[in-house]
Amino acid sequence: MEHFENWIDGGRVRTDRRMTTSNPYTGDAWADVADDPAAVDVAVAAARRAYDDGPWRSMPAAQRAELIRTLGALLTRDADDLAVIESRDNGKIIRETTAQAKSLQSYFDYFAGVADKIVGEQIPGPNPNFLVYTERVPVGVVGVIVPWNSPLALLTWKLAPLLAAGCTAVIKPSDITPVTALMLAELSDEAGFPPGVINVVTGGAEVGAAISAHPDIDKLTFTGGGATARHVARAAAENLTPATLELGGKSPQIVFADADPEAATNGLLAGIFAASGQTCVAGSRAYLHVDIADEVIGRLVARAGELVLGDPGDTATEMGPAASDDQRDRILAMVEQARTEGATIAAGGVIDPDLGGRFVRPTVITGVANDTTIVREEVFGPVLAVMTFTDEEEVIALANDSDYALAAGVWTNDVRRAHRMARRLDVGTVWVNTYRNVSFMAPFGGFKQSGYGKDNGLEALDGYLHTKAVWVELSGATRDPFVIG
Ligand code: NAD
Repeated sequence: MEHFENWIDGGRVRTDRRMTTSNPYTGDAWADVADDPAAVDVAVAAARRAYDDGPWRSMPAAQRAELIRTLGALLTRDADDLAVIESRDNGKIIRETTAQAKSLQSYFDYFAGVADKIVGEQIPGPNPNFLVYTERVPVGVVGVIVPWNSPLALLTWKLAPLLAAGCTAVIKPSDITPVTALMLAELSDEAGFPPGVINVVTGGAEVGAAISAHPDIDKLTFTGGGATARHVARAAAENLTPATLELGGKSPQIVFADADPEAATNGLLAGIFAASGQTCVAGSRAYLHVDIADEVIGRLVARAGELVLGDPGDTATEMGPAASDDQRDRILAMVEQARTEGATIAAGGVIDPDLGGRFVRPTVITGVANDTTIVREEVFGPVLAVMTFTDEEEVIALANDSDYALAAGVWTNDVRRAHRMARRLDVGTVWVNTYRNVSFMAPFGGFKQSGYGKDNGLEALDGYLHTKAVWVELSGATRDPFVIG
C-alpha cells in the first residue's frame, strides 16, 4: 500500500483520518490517502495567506506566467508516470491517459500566455473632469472540486486559468482518483510556486462539502454530477459565493441520410464507447435518419462486438472497466430498466463473462422512445440509445427535448444543413462530422442541467476575475455633495 498526504502551504501535512483508493481492474486497494474535512480550514487559511500577503500577489504577471509554463513542462516530463497512476485509479485505457497527460502542458502554456495580457479599459466618463478606467482583479481563493473520469485534465481546465488570473487554490480531487492531483502539487513546488498558492486536500463528500461551505473561499468551481452540484450550489448560495458548475450530459448524435455511414459509425462509437462511456460528453442518444438507420445499426452492433476490452494498462485495449462497483451496478440497472420499458438490447447489456466482474459489454439499445429513462438520464457508461427520425424539424425537437444541454454531434455532407443544425441545437458545444474534440482555446460548458460558466478559452479567465471601476477627479472642482453624479 502506498501512502500519500495532503499538500498544504508548500508541504505534505499528515492527517489521521484516512481512506483508500482501489484499482478497478484488479479490485485491489493500492493507496492510502487523507480524508479529513478539518484539513480544509488549514488549506483555506494557507491559500488566503498566500493570496493576501504572500509573494504571489505582488509577483509581476510575466513571472507568474513563467511559473505556470514551468509547471506545464514538468507535467510533460512526468506524463508517463501520471498516466499510469490515472489508469490504475479509474481504469481508463493507458492510450487515453497518456495522451491526456501529454496534452496538459498546452493548457498551461496557453494560460501562461494570457497571464500578462489581462487588461482593463479606459472609459470616456460623464465629462472631461474624470478619468474612469477598469481593472481586472483576481477573485481570490478558489475552491476546486473535480471528478474521477479525467482527473488531471479536468483539474487543469480550472487550475491553469485561475493561476493566470492570479488566484490561489484549494483543490479536492475525487475520492476515486486522489493521487495525481497530489503529484501535480509536488511538481508545483519543484516549479517554484510560493507555498499556499496550490493546496490539495483529498477525501470524499465531507471534504467537498467543507470546501463548498467555506466562508473564506471567494469562488467555487466544480465538475461532477447534478445531484452533488445541487449540494455545492446550496452551500455556495448560503455564503453568496459565485460558482461555476460543469455537469453531466445526455448528448445527441444526429446522422442524416447524406452522411458518410462509415465516418458516422466511427463517430458514434467514439462518442459512446471511448472511456467506457464515462465522459460528460458521451454521445448517448443517437438519432438516425430512417433511410440509413438499419445500415448504421448493423455497423454499430458489429463494431460493438469487436471492441477489445481488457487491461487498461495494455496499449491494445480499447475499453476498460467501469470505475467502481457502484458505477457498474448503476449501468446494469439502467439497461434492465430500459428492457422493462420495452427496449431491445441489440448489443451488450451484460457483464463480459471472461473479464471478472467490472466490464460492461459495449451496449446498443434500440426500440426506445424519447421519453424513456434510458434516453433522458445520464448513464455514464457504454450504453447507446438509438432512435430514428424522418426530417430536420423533427430531429431538432427530439434532440432539444432534454434536461441536459452539454454537446451534440451532427453528421451530414450538406453544408447548409450543418450550419442550420448548429444554430438550432440548444447545447454548449456542437461538433459537425467529428465528435469529442476539446481544446484549451475553445470555451467548454453546458446550458440547462449541464451547468453554468465555462472552462477553457479566454472566457474561462472571466470566472476568476472581478472587474473594478476606478474614478479619478482631475479638475479639483467642488461639487454638490448631496447629488449623485
Ligand atoms: P460526483 O458529483 O459524484 O463527484 C464530483 C466531486 O464532488 C468529487 O470530487 C466528489 O468527491 C465531490 N463530492 C461528493 N459529494 C460532495 C458534496 N456533498 N459536496 C461537495 N463535493 C462533493 O461526480 P463523479 O461521479 O465524480 O463524476 C461523474 C459526473 O461528472 C458525471 O455526471 C459527469 O457527466 C460529470 N462530468 C462533467 C464534466 C463537464 O465538464 N461538464 C466533465 C466530466 C464529468
